[in-house]
Amino acid sequence: MPDRPAGTGRKTAGTDRKTAGTDRKTAGTGRKTASSRALRLTAALPETDIRASVRERARALGVLGWIRTVGDDTLEIHAEGPSQAVESLVASLPDAPLEVTEVRREGHEQFAIRGVSAGVFVVQEHAATAHHFDLRLEVEGMMRSWAVPKGPSLDPSAKRLAVQVEDHEVGHNEFEGPTERGGVIVWDRGTYEQGGRVPWPEAIERGHAVFVLHGEKLRGGFALQRTRAGSKPQWLLVKRRDEEARPGSDIVAERPASVLSDRTLDQVRSEESAPGAQA
Ligand code: MN
Repeated sequence: MPDRPAGTGRKTAGTDRKTAGTDRKTAGTGRKTASSRALRLTAALPETDIRASVRERARALGVLGWIRTVGDDTLEIHAEGPSQAVESLVASLPDAPLEVTEVRREGHEQFAIRGVSAGVFVVQEHAATAHHFDLRLEVEGMMRSWAVPKGPSLDPSAKRLAVQVEDHEVGHNEFEGPTERGGVIVWDRGTYEQGGRVPWPEAIERGHAVFVLHGEKLRGGFALQRTRAGSKPQWLLVKRRDEEARPGSDIVAERPASVLSDRTLDQVRSEESAPGAQA
């Protein structure tokens, strides 16, 4: 397997000190792309927000990955792509990075700003022919929707069936009340961030979407993984392992009430015939 001498590529002229750990592959004649690399770097947070301009430069250079702020004094960047492009991006930062670490390529297909809201989400508990929870994520002005029979979980070992259903209007997010065959409550709501290596909505079309919820009950990273295509595509909704994960918990049982009215779905249904219930 080692068909060429390792470590002969050190002599690349003018090697910048910032980019310690010169890539051995640069000397290779092998078929692997000669000089690609991935760097994780931290920098002091500049006075002005440079995330959008760094993203523009990354895109122009063909660098993939992400940028995010950490706390209130640090900027973190994951940059992968052709070595020269990655180095150009690093050199373009207003201040020298505090720390640069060579990391594995992760296979990003975009350069994203992480930690920014992509829109709203809502989970509506819905009693109809069958009882379920509708998870809806705002994507390009519509609410992409999945019916989750058992409801979401904060336990990363719980894989919850989520059947993709028709998009809903954003205006439906506030709906709560009795219906002809049951009722609806707004079980949770908030904002969300898009994550993953693939830009949205393509991530959804390809069947793997990673996102971070900022709700009252649901928080932290989640993944939706499509397991069966067709007219009613089946997905699995899984909590990712992060600081918001709560192994063994049952959030649906623990916090049954509406985040709008504090009523349970049963209370809303029983108000159906009460005078003035929907006034
Ligand atoms: Mn429904």
